[in-house]
Order: sequence, then C-alpha cells, then structure tokens
Amino acid sequence: MAMSDALGRYAYSLLPVPQRAVRAEGEVVFRRDSITVYIEGLSAAESGVVRSELREAGFERLRTAPGRTEADLAIAVGESVPRIDRERLNELAHPEQSYRLTIGDGGATIYGGGGIGALYGLVTLLSLLRESPDGALPAVDIVDGPDARKRIVSPTLTWYAGFARAGFGTQLWEGPRWKAFIDWCFRHKINALNLVMYGFWPFEFPEYPETVLRDLKVHTWSKEIGDWIEVSFTHPNLRKPFLEEIIRYANDRGIDMYAYIGLNSYSGGYPVAHPESRGQLSRELLDQGHVNNYDSLCASRKDVRDYLIASVKRIEQLGFNGLVFEESEEVQWFCQCEACKEKYGHLPPNDAKHSVSVDLLWAYEEVLRPETMIAVRWLREPPIVKDRAVLETWRDKLPERVKLFWAPGLEDDDREFLKWVEVFGPERIWSRNCEGSGFAASLGRIPYIIPDTFPESLKNYAFQHLWNDISQFQGAVNTGCEGINGYGFEWYGHELFFMAAAQYGWNAWAQTQGEFLAHAARHLFGEANGARYERLIRTLPCIHETQICDTLPSFPFMPNKYIGDEGRRYLEDCEMAAESALADLEAILATPGLSALQRESAEATRIMALRMREVIRAGIFFNRYLDERDQGRNDAERLERLADCALYHAEEDYRLIKEHYFDTKEHCWTGVAIGEYYIPQVINEYKKTFAERLGERYKPNEDAAYIVGGESLPWEWLLEWGPKIARAKPHAAIRGREGAKA
Ligand SMILES: [Zn+2]
Repeated sequence: MAMSDALGRYAYSLLPVPQRAVRAEGEVVFRRDSITVYIEGLSAAESGVVRSELREAGFERLRTAPGRTEADLAIAVGESVPRIDRERLNELAHPEQSYRLTIGDGGATIYGGGGIGALYGLVTLLSLLRESPDGALPAVDIVDGPDARKRIVSPTLTWYAGFARAGFGTQLWEGPRWKAFIDWCFRHKINALNLVMYGFWPFEFPEYPETVLRDLKVHTWSKEIGDWIEVSFTHPNLRKPFLEEIIRYANDRGIDMYAYIGLNSYSGGYPVAHPESRGQLSRELLDQGHVNNYDSLCASRKDVRDYLIASVKRIEQLGFNGLVFEESEEVQWFCQCEACKEKYGHLPPNDAKHSVSVDLLWAYEEVLRPETMIAVRWLREPPIVKDRAVLETWRDKLPERVKLFWAPGLEDDDREFLKWVEVFGPERIWSRNCEGSGFAASLGRIPYIIPDTFPESLKNYAFQHLWNDISQFQGAVNTGCEGINGYGFEWYGHELFFMAAAQYGWNAWAQTQGEFLAHAARHLFGEANGARYERLIRTLPCIHETQICDTLPSFPFMPNKYIGDEGRRYLEDCEMAAESALADLEAILATPGLSALQRESAEATRIMALRMREVIRAGIFFNRYLDERDQGRNDAERLERLADCALYHAEEDYRLIKEHYFDTKEHCWTGVAIGEYYIPQVINEYKKTFAERLGERYKPNEDAAYIVGGESLPWEWLLEWGPKIARAKPHAAIRGREGAKA
C-alpha cells in the first residue's frame, strides 16, 4: 500500500517513509499542552531523549502514567513487548532499530526492538503530530525498520582549512546550530555523522598548538567599504568549545560520531607549521615541474610519526566513536628522502603510498581503543578498474578491523563495486563514492543537483549528482553492505542530498528518484511551496564559471565550453530557466510563516540562482561580442557596449559571491594561489580579449591571481571517465540479482 493512501495528508511529514503503514478506523486527538507517558525498558539516557523530544514538540507538561492503559503514550522495549510483536520485529532486517507504532484507542503505543527502535517510533509519531495543528491523527498501524544498519552523512567541521580555505557553511557553525543539525539527523533516522576535519584542527591540541585553527589571517570582503579587509579567524569550537558536548548529545540519540581526517594529508596544520616535515622532491622531479607537496608528510620522520599518533589519540580522547582516514588520491611522486627511498623506492608512487597507509593503520590500531571504529578511504586513484589480484593483495595487508569508507561508484556499470563487495565482503563496506554534494561544493558552491538540467547533448558530462548517489545507495543496500554514507559537504540549499541518504538507507525501494524528489521537496517546504521547489530543482541550470570563457583551461568536472552558436543558444535557454527558478524562489520567500530551515534553504538556493543568472548573461554577451567581432563589424561603440555588459554581469556574479559567503578570496598559504571561484580570472580573460580590439580601456589586471582550483588538480582522469560514468548502469541496484537480498 502506498504511504499516501495510509497516511493521507500526513504522508509528507515522514522522511524516510515507513516500510509498512496500515490505516485503521477512526482518529486520536492528542492534547497539545500535556501528555501522560508510560515507559518500560528504556535506559535513563533514552528516557531523557523521550522527554526532551516531547517537550521540543510542544508538550509543556509531561506526566508519568502508573500503567500502560492510563497513558496517552506507552513505550516499551525488551521483555515487556508482547511476544507476537517481538517476533514481528525480529523478522525485519535490523530488529534493534525497528519499531511498531500503533495510533488508536485514544493514544499511541510504541514497541521497540531495542531502545533506539523505540526512539525511532517516537520520531515517527512526533513527525506526524507536527503536521497536525489540532493534535488529531488518523488511527494507523506502522511497522518499520531500516534496510541498512548504518545510515551516515558526512558534513564538514573544517575543509582544507588553512590550506585552500578558511571556512564556509557548516564550518562556521557554533554549538547550538550543530545541536539543531543533530536533531535534524535524529528525526530523519540518520545514525552516524562522519565529521570532516581537513586541515588545521578545530579543537585544542596542547601538545601541538601550532596545528590548530586559531588566528588564521583571512581576507574577507566588506560590503561597507567595497574592499577586502584582513580579519583573523578562529574555529568556533576553539572559541566556545562544543565538540565533546555534541558528541555526547548525538550518542544519546543513537548517532555515532566519527572523525573523518586525512591519513597522511591535511592532518592538522603540521605540514604548514613545519615545512621541513613534508615529502621531499628530488632535483630530477623538481626539474620535471613537480611542486613541493604541501599536504603529505614524510612518514619516515620520527617527529611526523609522533605527531600523527598523538593526533589520533587526541581525537579519540574528544569522545569520537571512530576515525575514518582518507588516503590522498593526488600522488604522482613519492617522498625522495633517503629513508623513504630505501623503504619504498622500488615501488611505483601509488604503491608506496598504500604501503605507508597500511603501515600507519597498523600503528593507529595499536594505540586506539578496541571499541573505536577505524576505517579507510583508499585505492581511489586511476586505474579506476583494478585487477582483482591487486585488491586482494591490499586487502590482505590491511588490519582486519579496518572498515572501508569508500568503494567504487557506478564506474564500469557497477562491476567494479561488485568486485569490491566480493573481495572485501559487504560487512566491511560502509560507504561508496557518493559525492554528489561534494561536487557542488567543489564547483564553487554552484547548485549541481540533478543532471536533468543539462541538454541531452551535454548530459554525458553529468555524473556525481543526486540520482547517481541514490543508485549507489540502492546498490549498497541490495548487496547487503553494512552501511551507506552521503558525503554532504554542503548543507545550505543542499538538503536533498541529506534527505536522500536518510530515505534510501532506511527504505531503499519505496520511491523512484522522481517520487523521492517530489516527496522530499514537499517534506521540506509543504505542499504548495514544495511543488515550486521541485519544479525549480528540475530546471535550475548549473554552469561553471570557466565554461563561459574559452581561454581558461577546462574544469575537469564540467569540461565543455559554452562558446559558439550552440553554446550561446543553450545559455539563452538557461537564462529563461534561471528566471523562472528565481520567480519560484521569490514566491516561496514571500510566504508568511516559513520556518528557519525553509527560509535558509530558499535563501541559499536564491543566491545560487542569482549567480547562475549573472554567469549566463555574462556568457551570452561575451558570445555576442565574439560573434560581431568575427563578422568584421567595426562599430566600436557597439562592441564596447557588448563588452561592458559581459563584464558587468561577470562582476555581478563576483559581487554576489563576495557579499554572501565568508571565505571567497584565493589563498596563498601553501605557496600556490588556491581558490574556488574562477570569476575574477574570467573577468581578466574577458578583458584580455576586449583589449586586443578595443584598447587600453580594457587593460587586464597584471596582478590577478591565476588560481589552481582547490578541488580540480587531481581529477584530470575525469575527462576520460566522466562520460563513461554518466552512461553507467547501476547493476548493483537491480533487485533479485544473484547474491542480493530480496
Ligand atoms: Zn621521506
């Protein structure tokens, strides 16, 4: 039975949608000010969560009922659950996280297969009640539990902080905002956060104070004076520490907290504070044009070893339930110091890197507590399709306890992923390459959500998006993997990625991709605004700044250029799509009574749409300039007008970036200018083109930084693989395939 039939107008309040809901006769009216509760079998912490969730839902007075029959809400787990219900819950994939919620007979009863299952039943009840202004709910019988044991999201606490960025989005959050986010995760039945900490540490580290994110000098744009000003940035957790408290808060809600850090790269600020500790380049490699690696350390050095070991111990001490290590994928050479050459000199650079990874993981395993989860993201470099024997060799070297937080995406029609499932075993795979949202962040915070916004001829470049993530989640659930993980590197305007992880890890087959988008949009914005949001997500164009400039190198994630007749026509279509998306967003923002979450999401999407409109218009005018110039028209005044319009819109995009985001200027901390926003370069390239014909007035800025995209360097292989991935079939997600769970 479809959820909408059983739950009627309440259907959109639930995400993930429950496995099974059956409507019964009648309804129950809950008083909004007080509720009488009977609890049996929950721990003190779990009972505390029940009380705080009820208060949060608006029940000011909570009374304890003497017995189950006198309660408006009865919650029971363990022995006190009737045998028939226990048996029913035991049939589900993960009984301890499962529940039965019955609304009827004047109240609600929740039976949990375990404490957390009972809490999920409460989450479902309160989600329904939030949609009911008069406290009336239909009588219904819900039996529900997750498909995957671990449903993880990876938000950022720091991201390349002090290397390529200072901070943006969630990295600027203080404790209360993180608490609200954990509430969001709990209420969407997410049960682990894999907190990214890349770069200078966002926590106190007394042994190595030089490696923490304190007093970092940053240039930020001041709208008031129309110029950059230097400020000093200290991570919110160092100003008002919250990390340990939110870890406990999350743990009480069944949410594990993992630290997602570099294995031997971006590991705190050590390589910046101690440049001598970095991997060494030989004269020969330098002559070949390789740059000094600013992130990875020389693992043969004792000071480096001591530092890395102290770091992981410090992180465990903060209360994290696990550590997830990422091996850098950007290796073209390996440390050329005498010690490294002796140990690894006979190996190709990537094999040397894997050897060090294995070596470090054994060392970490030795110092970390047995209950601390250890995982790795590794073997991610080309060739994308690896020999089975190679995978087996590395598997055999890896400590048995180490889980995998990366397995291939849809590459090679999922066959590479299926090979990993066989080689490593599904219980060891907790995550795949689900970086749809990570790509959006890498594109300079541009809204690349679904491929449907691209024309048919360009779709072959569109990969790593929401649909791709969903297919990977389904494939992981279908092959019985331990968990799924959505790399939600952005929150603002990207809630769909988090909702997809919540939905497809819990109930992977309830909705097609299109049904999910429709449901999630209404879950987030309600019926009328949800329809608007769904429409604009389906059409909002995504154009990278380098795509409107033919003289800049192609950006690996979006390599094609919109220059020439076909490109210009596409930009003109996109302009209309951006206009209509903006109209929908204005309508949403004009709605009275929006929640803070709704306003934040709509506002963030509006900024992105405004930027798209300016990029599109700049591209259209630039194309028109090129066109008229090449047709030999000599009306300089007209050419100047087209040039001015192109520059005006490009500058407008830059203005929106500078005025709305905190960290927007390129950084040179590592000796190379690294940035995320290419529009200043586009402006300069445009000026070069205009100056050739129109003279001094368009003189480019000689000092303009020629940036390296913080995320684009190691991704050249995508130029070859992008189109293949875009065409890949998600074979692992086909139900009923051999070895898959029914
Ligand atoms: Zn070395």
